Amino acid sequence: MAKVELKKLFKTYNKKIKALEDINLTIEDGQFFVLLGPSGAGKTTTLRCIAGLEKIDSGDVLFDDENITHDQPASRDVSFVFQQYSLYPHYTVYENLAFPLRSPMRKLPEEEIKNKVEKIAEMLKITNKLKNKATELSGGEMQRVAIGRALVREPNIYLMDEPLSSLDAKLRETLRVELKNIQLNLNATILYVTHDQAEATTLADKIGVLKEGKIVQIGTPEEIYENPNSIYVSQRLGSPKINILPGSLFKLNNITKIGLRPENIELGNGPYEGKVISTENLGSETVVAINFQDNEILASIQGSYNSSINEKINFDINTNKVLKFDKGDQRIYER
Ligand code: ADP
Ligand code: MG
Repeated sequence: MAKVELKKLFKTYNKKIKALEDINLTIEDGQFFVLLGPSGAGKTTTLRCIAGLEKIDSGDVLFDDENITHDQPASRDVSFVFQQYSLYPHYTVYENLAFPLRSPMRKLPEEEIKNKVEKIAEMLKITNKLKNKATELSGGEMQRVAIGRALVREPNIYLMDEPLSSLDAKLRETLRVELKNIQLNLNATILYVTHDQAEATTLADKIGVLKEGKIVQIGTPEEIYENPNSIYVSQRLGSPKINILPGSLFKLNNITKIGLRPENIELGNGPYEGKVISTENLGSETVVAINFQDNEILASIQGSYNSSINEKINFDINTNKVLKFDKGDQRIYER
């Protein structure tokens, strides 16, 4: 597969909607790169520009250092998994999987097609469905086939547009794990876009955080979580979400806002006293909402935690883990 680079990519729709502004990113060969951003951030547009389905305003797309910006979509050799499964309904699962291999340009022998189809079907646990028509599948199975149809070839890059978003939570989790295993197995280069933080952290080698058509930070999931460069980035990962509070609340009077992750708050004793608003026991952890000087703070505690609503509660914060932000919501780094 290939290394894929985007350099200074700009894309507007109808000459006025700025969909992408100065996108720069490198996806290494064999890397699982996730673009994370809310709806409208420019995720689909980025994929479509790489595939050659959109005409870009300026900038370059490189595959293995070769500039392919002006190449036709068909000659780019990428494979795309769309948000909505797009199977041929009257074909069997086998024929759907084999289809990308049957291009007249390829002329693969039938035996080789069969081997490839069976290998992918096994990876995606749909071997027993190979003879079914696509219409005879559940939503989860259809999406497995859609992913399988992309993976059956070895293109320059796999482009995946929120491929799990239409599935229920349980199935999404299962397929997420399977997809990561398959990627490692095939050493595949994948650009995967999503608004789902769990997908981003579990799948990605690298995450690029998109905001309104711009990449605002690139890093490993750990870097993005531990070391976000802005409030926006700090809020992309973490559940329960990070607390953004005025610095003055903790006597950091020259700091506009601080970010405090729920797990960096210790309950029971400490110099701060608040009141319990609610507790939510999630099994392995309990989320306690505290009212502290009219600010709501979420704390997450390992295991269960007994307390009643309106009860006074003392707490402390891990000052080493406090993130500081300036007036423009950008991170203040300490020397
Ligand atoms: P995402 O996939 O992150 O939800 P998109 O890439 O689809 O975001 O869209 C980025 C921006 O470009 C949005 O403001 C969207 O409304 C706009 N946009 C996307 N496709 C078109 C189009 N075909 N015509 C006009 N505007 C579009
Ligand atoms: Mg989209």
